[in-house]
Amino acid sequence: MKQLFILPILACVFTTWIYAQDNQPVTASDLKTWCFYLANDEMKGRKNGSPEMKKAADFIAESFGKAGLKPLSAEAGYFQEYVTNRNKIDITERNVIGMIEGSDPVLKKEWIILSAHFDHIGIGKPIDGDSIFNGADDNATGTITVMALAKTLQSSITRPKRSILFVAYSGEEIGMQGSKWFKGHAPMPLDQIKLNLNFEMEGESATLGKNIYLLTGHQFTDFGDLLDEYNKKTNWVRAKKFKSPPWVFMASDNATFAINRAGEKPVLSIPAFSIVTTDDMNFIHKVTDEPDRMDYENMASLVSYLTNLVLFLSADPLDIHWNQEAFDNFNKH
Ligand SMILES: [Zn+2]
Repeated sequence: MKQLFILPILACVFTTWIYAQDNQPVTASDLKTWCFYLANDEMKGRKNGSPEMKKAADFIAESFGKAGLKPLSAEAGYFQEYVTNRNKIDITERNVIGMIEGSDPVLKKEWIILSAHFDHIGIGKPIDGDSIFNGADDNATGTITVMALAKTLQSSITRPKRSILFVAYSGEEIGMQGSKWFKGHAPMPLDQIKLNLNFEMEGESATLGKNIYLLTGHQFTDFGDLLDEYNKKTNWVRAKKFKSPPWVFMASDNATFAINRAGEKPVLSIPAFSIVTTDDMNFIHKVTDEPDRMDYENMASLVSYLTNLVLFLSADPLDIHWNQEAFDNFNKH
């Protein structure tokens, strides 16, 4: 009889410690299916302005809908449309945006943005008979990470305290047009954005190893310390040694928020970083960036880790500081 009493107590402690409870976990097989959809040859490298980008945006919006995210607006649904000019040609593109309202009456006015770009560079010169730049790791894997988090966070019994915005950007490969448009037309005041976690290249585990990621911009912030402290109770770690140069911090949509270029010198502003699981840039913008190279088991583990991390961060004070001096010194070189 005693054991019967102990079990519910243990279960209670266990769920508190685990923190989140996914009603609908995302499996490696789900991630593989999604990645093969976005990075299949039929998507022709998801070039901005192409019909395949429309298909990709519809696919992401459908997954946000299935997850149960609130759309950006009643009229536009999950889409934020904009027009940008590339080589004197107007390109109409869309960002895909959904949200979860925070559960805390005060903190819900503050936002954590989870983002990834879903465009790539299209078709180029054939190399060994292959001309399609599939963009599997750049950045179908980041996109499906955001799709997966929409599902796991929306179905989590523990509710995020701050509001969470999920955004898949188009236009990254043509000068971060999607994130720039979003920043200029954001659905919240920019000073209410407490953190942006951007996802780039989450599918490769051969170089850094399994259950390890790098944080871009870690040289200019104390946010890495917060992650390291949190990671002590998880099976994921942040890489301390890697080859990727500091400029990768400026090479994705997080930079649109992290760096304010309005004045004479670039000033660090909103805490915004990319999480990357590879240290191998050899496949980037190559026809060999194919979906069959990705480690979907590692990605499923990452999604589970990130679900708990985002729930934790949604309730954390998020006292994150930049080191402007370190950034200035870096920019001098
Ligand atoms: Zn990218």
